[in-house]
Amino acid sequence: MPNVVKIDKWNPDPAIIERAASVLKEGGLVAFPTETVYGLGADGLRAEAVRKIYAAKGRPQDNPLILHFSAPQETARIAKSSRRALDLMEEFWPGPLTLVLPLLDGSRVPKEVTAGLSTVAIRMPAHPVALALIEATGRPLAAPSANRSGRPSPTDARAVAEDLGRFADMILDAGGVDIGLESTVIDLTGEDVLLLRPGGLPAETIAAFLGSPLRTPGASDSPASKRSPGVRYRHYAPDIDVLIWDKKDALFMSGVDPALSGFVGLTKPPVSFARSIIFDSPESYARGLFASFREMESDGACRRIVAEWPEAEGIGLALRDRIKRAAAR
Ligand code: AMP
Ligand code: MG
Repeated sequence: MPNVVKIDKWNPDPAIIERAASVLKEGGLVAFPTETVYGLGADGLRAEAVRKIYAAKGRPQDNPLILHFSAPQETARIAKSSRRALDLMEEFWPGPLTLVLPLLDGSRVPKEVTAGLSTVAIRMPAHPVALALIEATGRPLAAPSANRSGRPSPTDARAVAEDLGRFADMILDAGGVDIGLESTVIDLTGEDVLLLRPGGLPAETIAAFLGSPLRTPGASDSPASKRSPGVRYRHYAPDIDVLIWDKKDALFMSGVDPALSGFVGLTKPPVSFARSIIFDSPESYARGLFASFREMESDGACRRIVAEWPEAEGIGLALRDRIKRAAAR
């Protein structure tokens, strides 16, 4: 594999971190692990470095990036934090929660990061390698998932190399990720807290902490929230079609030939498939979803993937979102 460097998750070698940090300081791209998925990182305060991310991913210019920090106080020169935002950081950081806040006047964040919006998305990842890298670089890192735009997110270094091996100057390989789906994105710029993208931190957990439910953006919301990830359509998709199976449906899917299809889900399906991957919990389904997609698209036996529709609670809401968008055509 090109440019892949193994690194210990719990005890990252400082020499490797220094090397990766110098690549970033010189304006290069480093793919690194987080607890959600692998990210493709660049110096988040340097426009030409950030532009390389868009080029490598083939990412639409109007889809803004998340800035990653190694401590809550480092966000102070970038974003305007309310009491509520600080409380959420204290409770859930480091972790899979991204906050959309007003961009601070005079901050040095280039428009490439925010796609020209007056808001900025920030997060502190819970992964020792990510934190060490951000700290050694001394800058917030802009880091979307390290896949070609529209493809399943990478949950290990091999998937990163598959999609972006030519573009990443270095890929840090700390093994598989914990969560397997991206962070939960909430918008704190208005009175109500808006859920822009369900993710690794369950919406119920955030709502319980805030003492009020999260709202999903509607027609009356500002353009910034309309641009949220939740409204972009096909995404997370492998090269073969994904179809959704709800186990409550009495009849099994017509038109699907199980002998030529793969199955992923939590329940043993009523027919036998060419390949099937059954997980024992919604958390392991989340952790394995994208890797199953990649495995089945490269396995010649599968022309389609049937994915089980999970319950909409806990991580299930994020699973539903990813499956729905992977299945959209
Ligand atoms: P990813 O592509 O997985 O890194 O996800 C980042 C997501 O955060 C994108 O889909 C963006 O739409 C969302 N995001 C980043 N910045 C903002 C922002 N300022 N306002 C609203 N959403 C944002
Ligand atoms: Mg992504």
